Amino acid sequence: MRPTGRLHIGNYLGALKNWVDMQEEYDCIYSVVDIHALTTIEEVAELPQNIHEMVIDFLAAGIDPQRSMLYVQSQVLEVMELTMFLGMITPLGWLTRVTTFKEKVRQHPDNVNYGLVGYPVLMAADIVLYKAELVPVGEDQIPHLELAREIVRRFNRLFGDTFPEPEAKLTESPLIRGLDGANKMSKSLDNHIELALSEAETTRRVMTAVTDPQRTHRSIPGRPQICNVYHLHKIFNPDEAQTVFDECSTAKRGCVECKRQLADGINRYFAEFRERRAEIAARPEYVREVLGDGARRARAIARETMREVRERMNLFPLPDEA
Ligand code: SF4
Repeated sequence: MRPTGRLHIGNYLGALKNWVDMQEEYDCIYSVVDIHALTTIEEVAELPQNIHEMVIDFLAAGIDPQRSMLYVQSQVLEVMELTMFLGMITPLGWLTRVTTFKEKVRQHPDNVNYGLVGYPVLMAADIVLYKAELVPVGEDQIPHLELAREIVRRFNRLFGDTFPEPEAKLTESPLIRGLDGANKMSKSLDNHIELALSEAETTRRVMTAVTDPQRTHRSIPGRPQICNVYHLHKIFNPDEAQTVFDECSTAKRGCVECKRQLADGINRYFAEFRERRAEIAARPEYVREVLGDGARRARAIARETMREVRERMNLFPLPDEA
């Protein structure tokens, strides 16, 4: 995950919750991809703080550093070495036709850097360095994973079977709209609710949520099916959702009380998370230890992979490996 700082409930339900659950079944490796963030230079000033805050959210949500590896991408130097090697066998045409690359070029024509076009190669390196077999992705990331698979196939064909082709582990996650009721929840649109907010701050945010615009008076029946508040009730107050639907459609409830009830549901849902978050936030040295330990364990795998890669590519062995 890119180091965007404190996570919001869209990040949690869309990715983090699944990652926590996956620990039950798989050996998992999670990283904060700070090198990827360098493609947009504005993010650099806040990078250390953003990484720190995000990792606190990971840990508070239940990423268990005993069971999984959790580290910062740039602390595993081998990922940069592998990116360079994979870059040598990746045709430029594969990269320039990636939709997200074209979008970025359109949005920021003045900042089309070498790193941006190589973004999927770094992503592929990040996966195959650990010989990962599964990658938890949403539908929108499938093309990136397909590209990683193409790169792997090419490498294996040229240098012999080295990497498994990583498969997509499609994660089921509801689309979480933001407080504007229209767009996906996103920090950049300021329509989000951070996990780390206090109860009062959460309630204040929820009270700004856009509801059914036709409902200009309490006596006018609402259309819960088009109201994001109702959809969030289904997640955070599932037992009440039917009542919300019925009472809204028959004008038996007002939007103000409806939103307050939603805020209560969200606050209940994240009560334990917040307690854990506060405990972890009070121990910054613990966060550093977790990341240091994660990076050491990740590097042990990465070094072994790179030794094999260098051998397959007929490169000179490193002096201490000769
Ligand atoms: S009563 Fe609730 S579900 Fe209905 S429009 Fe208002 S906020 Fe939305």
